[in-house]
Amino acid sequence: MHEFSLMREVLSMLHRSAAEEGISRIESVCMKVGVMSCAFAPALETAFEVLSGGDPLLEGARLQVLEQGVVVRCRQCWWEGETEPYELLCGQCGGGEVHVIRGEALTVDSYEGRKCPDGHRQTDGERDEGQ
Ligand SMILES: [Zn+2]
Repeated sequence: MHEFSLMREVLSMLHRSAAEEGISRIESVCMKVGVMSCAFAPALETAFEVLSGGDPLLEGARLQVLEQGVVVRCRQCWWEGETEPYELLCGQCGGGEVHVIRGEALTVDSYEGRKCPDGHRQTDGERDEGQ
């Protein structure tokens, strides 16, 4: 499934970011999903649940998916604003030569987690940390 490979990338990005910030446990993740990104929010939620299961960093974290509308810039008059997905017309001159500047991407907006109080990673006994 498409969403699973997307989510795998998101999770590895979260792992890298959390390691940099010294975060040992992520509690919630907020993602923005462009309406033209071809990713289906409920499928992303399922993928997140499945892939975060058993992951000491992410297990039990909540995922919030926010849909993001399409923003275009007109090549004719430089108007910039939201438009209907799949129609993609300039809101000012009605021209169809627009450049999509938002709405195709899938991004992590923010996440919340806990840092280890004493700077040590909490591990469950002999669990192998992997990468
Ligand atoms: Zn225009």
